[in-house]
Amino acid sequence: MTVRVVIIGAGQAGANAAMALRRQGHTGPLVLVGDEVHAPYERPPLSKEALLQPDQARLALYTPEQFAEQGIALKLGIRAIAIDSQASTVTLANGETLAYDKLLLTIGAQPRHLPMLDALGDRAHVLRTVEDAQRIKAQAQAGKRAILVGAGVIGLELASSLTELGVQVDVVDPARRAMLRNSPELIGRFLQDTHEARGVTFHFNTGVSAAERSGDRVLLTLENGTQLLGDLLVYGIGVCVDDTLAKAAGLRMEQGAIVVDEHCRTSQPNIYAAGDAVLQIAANGQHRRIESWENANLQASAAVGDILQQSVAPYPVPWFWTDQCGYNVQFAGDMTAPQWLLRGEPGKAPFMLFGLEEGAVVGAVTVNAGKDMRPAKELIARRAQVDEATLCDPGVALRQLAKAS
Ligand SMILES: Cc1cc2nc3c(=O)[nH]c(=O)nc-3n(C[C@H](O)[C@H](O)[C@H](O)COP(=O)(O)OP(=O)(O)OC[C@H]3O[C@@H](n4cnc5c(N)ncnc54)[C@H](O)[C@@H]3O)c2cc1C
Repeated sequence: MTVRVVIIGAGQAGANAAMALRRQGHTGPLVLVGDEVHAPYERPPLSKEALLQPDQARLALYTPEQFAEQGIALKLGIRAIAIDSQASTVTLANGETLAYDKLLLTIGAQPRHLPMLDALGDRAHVLRTVEDAQRIKAQAQAGKRAILVGAGVIGLELASSLTELGVQVDVVDPARRAMLRNSPELIGRFLQDTHEARGVTFHFNTGVSAAERSGDRVLLTLENGTQLLGDLLVYGIGVCVDDTLAKAAGLRMEQGAIVVDEHCRTSQPNIYAAGDAVLQIAANGQHRRIESWENANLQASAAVGDILQQSVAPYPVPWFWTDQCGYNVQFAGDMTAPQWLLRGEPGKAPFMLFGLEEGAVVGAVTVNAGKDMRPAKELIARRAQVDEATLCDPGVALRQLAKAS
């Protein structure tokens, strides 16, 4: 039987799912619909190379020609606006209707908006798309001042890129430290010190109480009374998922995300979802909500495996990375581990941290030590119990430790 597959959302997960379907033997009709006008591209460079060396930044995942060669119908610049799960059809904004046997939603997420900051007009930005990065780059000239609201990964990567461009940066966050949600204390402090050494000023434990335009600039008043004047402002305060399609299709949603199982199956037959838009609830009840490049790829593979009824390797230990101020920082496993051990010297990269829970290795962070990430993940996957002194000794090869434990 010919199986018609439609994928909505031509980003990281959608583009990789389409290519994997062909690579793994799907011969039926395959349509990839995306509302952006560009061929699918990667977002991690948007806060990094795309601001520093826009001409050299490699963003494209695949070219339109590569999709054509694979017989994938790429429909760009068109939004899917409705799903009829009874009739198994998708309606596009141009009036076209697509019939499917299997539907995959890879619609990603959008930056959460703050009306008070949006009201500042063309000097206030979020960062999710190529166009956002271009607008920020155009205003980020040496000698200008930028205010970044949100000291999460994107805020800190922006702080790194903008200071490198000669922009003076203030970072505001109501939290008590940088990357509070997804890094251990020591890494948050290390990154803060690193940014401060480059001239960044942090304003923690305070939110924004008022925002206004002052000519070409923006004037922020913080809850602690501090006033900041900036030539541009970028805010990154989390993301939300557009629920229009999920509601239309009657998909179960929780915590603002589309609920899927391990195989990325939604609550409706023949409809899958993957990437930033989903909350994955495993059979054992474990929740997985990860907005990362790797997770988008892994969930795309899981959905493809189920569509083609092929087995897929189990999910590895979750992993993501960030690049800031010349440091490549990689994170794996549980960042909320109650105990953290240092291997090496903080501030003297390379170094790394291990997170322990009841003596078992459950998390790891490497700083300019990416080669140690693989053995660290092996230790986490096995919840290895390793003598603390041995774990902290940079003289002991992690590879040996991973083999031995
Ligand atoms: C600036 C930035 C830096 C990042 N850096 C890192 C990093 O260093 N490390 C890391 O691990 N992760 C990073 N990420 C996260 C990573 O890029 C995302 O987790 C990943 O892109 C998610 O993939 P996705 O396919 O779910 O969503 P996306 O890649 O966002 O793709 C979703 C696509 O669907 C489209 N769409 C939505 N609704 C519709 C509709 N109704 N009809 C048609 N199309 C629709 C969207 O416009 C979009 O093009 C970064 C993200 C950003 C924004």
